[in-house]
Amino acid sequence: TNNPPASQHNAIQLQDAGHHIHPFTDTKALNKKGARVINRGEGVYVWDDQGNKMLDAMAGLWCMAIGYGRTEVADAVHAQMQELPYYNTFFQTTHKPVAELAKKLAEISPEAINHTFFTSGGSDANDTMLRLVRHYWASLGKPSKKVIISRKNAYHGSTVAGASLGGMTFMHEQGDLPIPNITHIGQPYWYGEGGDLTPDEFGLLRARELEEKILELGEDKVAAFIAEPVQGAGGVIIPPDSYWPEVQRICDKYEILLVADEVITGFGRTGERFASETYDLKPDVICIAKALSSGYLPIGGVMLSDRLADVVINQGGEFEHGYTYSGHPAACAAALKVLEIMDREDLPNYVKNDIGPYLQERWLKLADHPLVGEARMVGLMGALELTPDKATRAKFAVKAGTVGLMCREFCFDNGLVMRAVGDTMIISPPLVLSHDEADELIAKATAVLDLTY
Ligand code: PLP
Repeated sequence: TNNPPASQHNAIQLQDAGHHIHPFTDTKALNKKGARVINRGEGVYVWDDQGNKMLDAMAGLWCMAIGYGRTEVADAVHAQMQELPYYNTFFQTTHKPVAELAKKLAEISPEAINHTFFTSGGSDANDTMLRLVRHYWASLGKPSKKVIISRKNAYHGSTVAGASLGGMTFMHEQGDLPIPNITHIGQPYWYGEGGDLTPDEFGLLRARELEEKILELGEDKVAAFIAEPVQGAGGVIIPPDSYWPEVQRICDKYEILLVADEVITGFGRTGERFASETYDLKPDVICIAKALSSGYLPIGGVMLSDRLADVVINQGGEFEHGYTYSGHPAACAAALKVLEIMDREDLPNYVKNDIGPYLQERWLKLADHPLVGEARMVGLMGALELTPDKATRAKFAVKAGTVGLMCREFCFDNGLVMRAVGDTMIISPPLVLSHDEADELIAKATAVLDLTY
């Protein structure tokens, strides 16, 4: 019913190919075939303009937690836009939605985290974090504590600081990154890098790289360690059980701030409101975005513990930093409505005790498929490692990523959106996924694996 005439479809593709530069895309290659035009979403489904219906197992870009088509959110935004579409929060002014949202976030975040600086998304949240933690140490009279330790293959955004904090070397190669005083240690990627070690041995090994790095640099030089509780864009890398307790111990021992980048994992994705709770972390800073507004409008933030906020507020003087859209009223209104819906529908609990275990049980069985070397999942984020040889976890003879891309295309053609990270297939479906939709996801994933095999 939503199919436009072919001419209109082609017109959109032509406009796009002629004038739109896509993020993370070989635009020249895309322009040859034309981008797929997505024009509608409802629940966990999206439709392209040819009428193809797809189960969006990526929730957009990890963000559509409450699913598409929630008119309540649109109504809240509409009302806010009519009342006050914009005002800044720079010059000793505030407004109702930003104040309410800051309060609400303090209520639902881990106990010690009670203060939020707002941004437009996750990348600029990490830029803000970098300046804030250095400012924190400088305010305490320790300006030499500047270095931020991150991890290889981490993703912390695409701004200069975000991409520098991230550990993706192909991003560093463009734009002369990373910026100074950022360094990367190994990731807890047992399937890919653990060799003959048990997961727990490997987790400890990787955690202790943090201690080695701190000792190498000197603790008086290190400001913070940043990590995604579960690496998302790197391939849904779920750390071994031994990893996080050891990292927490090391951060405590050397007084290194722990920054949890919960841009993906925040707001129910791992079955608690924050993955910091899932992994029993005590972060000093939590970066948020994505599911905060369930993607309905752009908004992110940096949440600080009372200990940090106290120094920044009471000793730091003016923090010389801010965005025009810090605390945008309409985005805050969207976030408030999304958080209200999450509460009302008890979504973290639904993920933890109902749909999470239901999907996990079925997802983990995909490891029986001859093409799958490992299936893993926490909450509602999962990965399948594709391999030509399960026993040896071998890589494919063709260029890395070729099979993953093929699988992704088969997904699209069969009504399922999965993402390929190299030859790892990943999912992060909306948290409102029903049992029937979970069954459909598994059936389609199985069919796609058969096609790829
Ligand atoms: N941090 C993490 C962990 C992310 O996954 C992302 C985006 O995927 C970002 C930061 C960047 O967020 P944004 O794309 O909103 O700038």
